[in-house]
Amino acid sequence: MKKITIATDWLDGCSGCHMSMLDMDERLVELIKMGVELNATPITDFKEPTEEVDIGILEGAVSTNHHIEVVKNMRNKCKILIAIGDCAVFGGIVTMRNYFSVEELLRRGYIETESTVDGKIPTSPEIGKHTKLAKAVNQIVKVDFYIPGCPPRADAIYYVLKELVEGRKPLLVGDLLRYD
Ligand code: SF4
Repeated sequence: MKKITIATDWLDGCSGCHMSMLDMDERLVELIKMGVELNATPITDFKEPTEEVDIGILEGAVSTNHHIEVVKNMRNKCKILIAIGDCAVFGGIVTMRNYFSVEELLRRGYIETESTVDGKIPTSPEIGKHTKLAKAVNQIVKVDFYIPGCPPRADAIYYVLKELVEGRKPLLVGDLLRYD
């Protein structure tokens, strides 16, 4: 059986798209039986692809210099890149920040929120520097397939992965584009 390797990562989002992937439930086992092997994900030990993978999946908008590195690295390491969820597909809710400056954004998020006491804008290099605008993944690198939705349905994610694993080109139509 041919092995199909998959790596996923998340950018600026809420992790909901990864939760939707987990919602494939027993169909995750079906994919594994079909030869799928997870190389790296934010919720497993390896966070970044350790080798070239067949399919890369990105959730979230590109919002910091660190995200740009993650996106380019995933593009370089995968044969097929999928943008999953509205944030990755067209920027989604994250792009609401584009109406404000980065300074206003950070001040609102870390100092001015009603529940914050003695807030401080974090300066750790691990967080990365916010870019002026939040962008969709395809504004940084070429994307091969899109799975829109906030989050996309587990059925749609399963369909796309199954089609690709079986060597077909997925076409999301009808109920697969219905969001609850
Ligand atoms: S598309 Fe929706 S569910 Fe997915 S990361 Fe963005 S906000 Fe979260």
